[in-house]
Amino acid sequence: MTRHALLFKVLRFSGLPLLVRELIQRRRVTILLFHDISRETAARTFDCLAARYHLLNLQTFIRKCKANDRRLPPKSLILTFDDGHIRNYELLPLFQEKKIPVTIFPVTIFLCAGIVGTKRHFWFRHTAPKYRSSQLRRTPSVQRRRLLEEMGFTQDTEYDRPQALTRGQIEEMKPWVDFQSHTLFHPCLPRCSYAEARDEIGGSGQRLRQEYGLPVNAISYPHGDYSDRDIELCRQAGYDCGVTVNCGYNTVGTDLLRLKRLPVNDTEDMNELIVKASGLWEFLKRTLGGNHEYGWTEEVEP
Ligand SMILES: [Zn+2]
Repeated sequence: MTRHALLFKVLRFSGLPLLVRELIQRRRVTILLFHDISRETAARTFDCLAARYHLLNLQTFIRKCKANDRRLPPKSLILTFDDGHIRNYELLPLFQEKKIPVTIFPVTIFLCAGIVGTKRHFWFRHTAPKYRSSQLRRTPSVQRRRLLEEMGFTQDTEYDRPQALTRGQIEEMKPWVDFQSHTLFHPCLPRCSYAEARDEIGGSGQRLRQEYGLPVNAISYPHGDYSDRDIELCRQAGYDCGVTVNCGYNTVGTDLLRLKRLPVNDTEDMNELIVKASGLWEFLKRTLGGNHEYGWTEEVEP
């Protein structure tokens, strides 16, 4: 049972998510953010969402946006996973049994190109107990790496076990999944120097194209953090699309480098999933003045 299980149940059966779906989401495109869910949760999640939405491929949406083609299936919903956690591989049989090719399959996984295919680790999984990852995220990138080093973590170290998808797993998943970029090492882009941000943005796409043969044209900003400078760097690096964690839904008129996305926090609770997929939860959280977990876009470092 999650902390708000009863609240999610009440919200779900209040009929509000249904109203939002039929009145607001019907003519918009919703993008959901997942990270690391088990196969069982994924199976239930996909079925639950497929019964309520039209699952759409991100590339199809990008094409429609570029052509200004407004004919989209009602209640379109795109599933995205950030980071490229190794357990994402468990989802492969689910993808295969759907027998839907990558060109229309509604799942995009954004990979940290410097971490996948290696035994390097995600820095944000190494922070406790001295600093919270949200604290470190707001620290200028050079300083963050120095603090992590003091705690015995460097982003280049290869550890015993991989935390991210391996090269072989990515190859196996390629026919089913749209793999895209999530930078190289998952920094907070607005806290990177110009050169680091440029390398993280441009270098990740380049590595995924060259080493994996992936047709990369989209990026997901780590933690949803980006500044105008970072958007410009993405444009220069040739990305067509960038996904944020800004709250809301999209239309073909939405800025493709600032697509909105709703986090669902990998819940196993289908009531919570339905409430969060409708956008109702983020809306309530923001209206009631809760903490903004994602999407920090303050001024960049000089
Ligand atoms: Zn991430």
